[in-house]
Amino acid sequence: MADLLSIINPATEALIKDMPVDDGAAVAEKYGRAREAQLGWGALPLADRITPILRFRDLLIERVDTLAALLTSETGKPITQARSEILALPGRIDFFVQNADQVLSPDRVYAEPAEAALGAGTLEEVIAQEPLGVIANISAWNYPYFVGGNVFIPALLMGNAVLYKPSEFATLTGGAIASLLHESGIPEDIFIPVIGSGLTGAALLEQPIDGVFFTGSYATGQKIAIAAAPKLIRTQLELGGKDPAYVCADAKVSVAAAGLADGAFYNNGQSCCAVERIYVHADVYDEFLEAFMATVQGFKLGDPTDPATYLGPVSRKPQLSVLAEQVTDALAKGATLQCGGETLDRPGWYFAPTVLTEVNHTMTVMQAETFGPVIGIQQVASDAEAVALMQDTPYGLTAAVYGTERERAVGILRQLKTGSAYWNCCDRVSPRLPWSGRGHSGLGATLSLAGIYTFLQPRAWHLRAG
Ligand code: NDP
Repeated sequence: MADLLSIINPATEALIKDMPVDDGAAVAEKYGRAREAQLGWGALPLADRITPILRFRDLLIERVDTLAALLTSETGKPITQARSEILALPGRIDFFVQNADQVLSPDRVYAEPAEAALGAGTLEEVIAQEPLGVIANISAWNYPYFVGGNVFIPALLMGNAVLYKPSEFATLTGGAIASLLHESGIPEDIFIPVIGSGLTGAALLEQPIDGVFFTGSYATGQKIAIAAAPKLIRTQLELGGKDPAYVCADAKVSVAAAGLADGAFYNNGQSCCAVERIYVHADVYDEFLEAFMATVQGFKLGDPTDPATYLGPVSRKPQLSVLAEQVTDALAKGATLQCGGETLDRPGWYFAPTVLTEVNHTMTVMQAETFGPVIGIQQVASDAEAVALMQDTPYGLTAAVYGTERERAVGILRQLKTGSAYWNCCDRVSPRLPWSGRGHSGLGATLSLAGIYTFLQPRAWHLRAG
């Protein structure tokens, strides 16, 4: 009998259901089906692949209530944020669809003039794009529609077959995504969910796949890279971050405080690009802290199915001890607790929104990914000190600067190695811009044209007329 995966509601700790897990043999069987089906799918005219993707897009909008309720039940994501995530995917789909034809069209980069052919036939050089083949999409639980859709939508449009391994903490949503794609007309052997924990993900990597697109932590990303290396396949890793933000002396403090509180606490801080460290110039520190605390204290915490809730439970129980350890470590080293700091005495995996000040870089809260509703705010004396602290991390996903002078903010951001740079905004993703990391935040890019080309390999055609 197959092993079972227990899906638990983080808000109530109640068992939602037990799901059978794919073992190695089941994964191999799914791989075989995908391999057989992919050639036909890749050979279809693009329009025949676009039609089901657009149907999927429409079904997301039509079924948003049911899909959001399911996502909330297994991740604890507040229902309004679940709806926002689902309703933002159509915009990304539109971007991919609008650009698919341009990316896939053969590019005639050279045509020899007839008089230069000197007796031989004229020469043409053409770059064509071909799908990678069968890819593994190993996804995280925090934004299954976003981080999954950034991969499987362009991968399918470009003619690949996708073996989709949702996180074990977003398994029901992974199943719902698969059903919706199949109902939309994507063949069942072209998008195949692979169900299970990290062990199932590892079994997937044992198959002779043509690419692996992974979203998750640095620790797991390293394992994926090691497993994929001998295969010499396209390997893309979207990993975590310790994203810093700096509030300059000339910042509009109320704007910075509201923006950064949302950036730190949206989705309970469980975003790859959540603001995880805030540095504030001494000139505006007191004013900033007061405005920041007022915003945090206004966040409604509670039942994630209530549309008024902004903060629900964390999605994974073990994260509660990670958060508690970061707080304990910071307090032991001299930090001040402005609010929160502990798990809540109620059913569900709730951690009170936590703000720490008088923090420094000896504390894990300013060094290790927190991935929860805990933020450290550090006062700095100058832009140079802020830059040095922002640079002090192995991660490089995003960084934000709040201030009125564009040149000053851009000058600061240029000194940081991050995939995204924000001026007077944060925690923002656009389908038109590449999403990528530096250092421990990953390899490769999704979104933008780069995030479509990544599912293709170029082929050089040298064509001389006979
Ligand atoms: P994990 O690294 O724990 O897991 C990611 C995925 O990998 C899951 O599907 C997991 O399965 C699977 N997995 C675990 N072990 C293995 C293995 N040995 N081989 C193959 N697959 C494996 O990350 P989380 O799901 O907890 O996601 C949170 C992390 O993701 C954070 O660090 C966050 O910053 C990052 N992230 C990055 C984003 C970006 O765009 N840069 C976006 C969103 C999140 P299972 O869950 O079933 O164990």
